[in-house]
Amino acid sequence: MTKGDILNSKNKNISMLKGTVANKGIAFGTISFLKRAKTGLEKTSVSDTKAECERFEKARLHAISQLSALYDASLEKLGEQNAVVFQIHQMMLDDPDYVSSVNKLIEKEHTNAEYAVTKVAHKFEKQFLEMDNDYMRGRAADVIDISRRVKEILMMHAGKLKKHGLTFDNKGPVILATDDLVPSETVQLDNQKVTGIITSKGSTRSHTAIFARTMGIPTIVCIGDELTEDLEGKKAIVDGNSGYVYIDPDESTLLRFTEMKKTDDVQHSHLEEYRGKETKTRSGRPIRLYANSGSLADIDLIKASDAEGIGLFRSEYIYMQAHDYPTEEEQFKIYKDVLKGMDGKKVIIRTLDIGADKTAEYFMLKPEENPAMGVRAIRLCLTNRALFKTQLRALYRASVFGNLSVMIPMITSVEEVVECKRIIDDIKKELTDQELPFKDDVEFGIMIETPAAALISDELAPLVDFFSIGTNDLTQFTLAADRQNADLGTYLNPYHHAVVRLIETTVKNGHAAGIWVGICGELASDEKFLGKLIQLGVDEMSVVPSSILTLRAKIATLG
Ligand code: PEP
Ligand code: MG
Repeated sequence: MTKGDILNSKNKNISMLKGTVANKGIAFGTISFLKRAKTGLEKTSVSDTKAECERFEKARLHAISQLSALYDASLEKLGEQNAVVFQIHQMMLDDPDYVSSVNKLIEKEHTNAEYAVTKVAHKFEKQFLEMDNDYMRGRAADVIDISRRVKEILMMHAGKLKKHGLTFDNKGPVILATDDLVPSETVQLDNQKVTGIITSKGSTRSHTAIFARTMGIPTIVCIGDELTEDLEGKKAIVDGNSGYVYIDPDESTLLRFTEMKKTDDVQHSHLEEYRGKETKTRSGRPIRLYANSGSLADIDLIKASDAEGIGLFRSEYIYMQAHDYPTEEEQFKIYKDVLKGMDGKKVIIRTLDIGADKTAEYFMLKPEENPAMGVRAIRLCLTNRALFKTQLRALYRASVFGNLSVMIPMITSVEEVVECKRIIDDIKKELTDQELPFKDDVEFGIMIETPAAALISDELAPLVDFFSIGTNDLTQFTLAADRQNADLGTYLNPYHHAVVRLIETTVKNGHAAGIWVGICGELASDEKFLGKLIQLGVDEMSVVPSSILTLRAKIATLG
């Protein structure tokens, strides 16, 4: 879709909405707004707060048992990696913070449980939405989902509601419209009937977006206030390539998108030819095509994507999802499951990269003027050795269960690398003394994501087994442009010659020392830049799972 096409459509008075693409694809249908059971927010005064807390407890346990049934039911429909959200929901309902907040509100305000649950849900939702991290913002929908469930159960127990409600008109094909879908609603959708989803709010990282991708439903989120209920019943096209929704399209627009969809479908089936194939350039140079991951729950998705391994496992997500420092045993279990889950394929686990935009309250990090350039990642690990050692022990103990590589983020000096290697040697001695098994040939690599590291990559290369270039941070630090600042979009240019030269230097120095060099920043998934990366001699790319087959097909035409 070109800008010209859009203007064309405007000229013909077709109204359009614009949002953010959460799942690609083209869908045709009739807009139908989701209708939820009306539960209201009535605040009533209760005299027996103890009895009211018991009502809440009964509803909470009932909700947990419903979620367990929902988990079983969605296993088949959506696979383990998606069904797991209903286990997470059960855990959220068991969260002591959540439970005590509701009980305290009932007691303090002598209020009914329905009101307390809703209030607490909004408080937690706000906290999640204010977080700097996409993943955590995505959890806001989960807390609303679990609270809505408890509230509906409370009302059903009180005889005020017959059953959980989720309906929409029209038999299909339906473009489902709503403010935001919660995971348990998404799972109930029939993808034969619902061809597209459009939401005024939402996030591309929410479980809803992930489910929509799994179910193959084109989805556009964050449309804003223009998604109004007077659009009910209108014919629409969802263009999950550009993020536009065309309302009441005319014949020629319909025809154009019908053609586009045909081409999309053909391309999709063409990509399937690359499944199970080795990734090679036109001249036959092999490239390793790996996936980025943030959690054990991604494994099925990564395997389904046909990635050849995991090129960046962001271990800090484990810390960010916990309420306290994850123990060695807890981490060991996760790393072991990831390695086993990947069936012997390469898994590169990055050590803790906490700080800046990624934080967890219990770390109680000191406020900093410039957190992106503060005590973060390896700096924090070298200041807090116990924290670092716990993670390294868990990683090395898990190493016997698969093909592990360990990678250190935010390196700026030779001394840091030497110190990390010394600590790893200590860990290996400790494990040997304790007769705990580990692999001795775990690859050890570093991220090149600061200009300093790229410029001294000739000094760093002999110390490590591989480099992985983190172009997200490398771009921000090279161009002095904060990656969190939406106003700096044009400054944050990964194609800037300064960034490209640093990538080139890193690859040259890596190869001169006989080590492989990969890229795990977003630039690796950029089809426009792929040719340049191949030309620069990059050996490995780690990208979002959904890009694997597309990139494999593209690489086959390059170099
Ligand atoms: C990077 O900086 O390019 C990178 C991959 O790490 P993160 O985005 O997690 O900082
Ligand atoms: Mg980084």
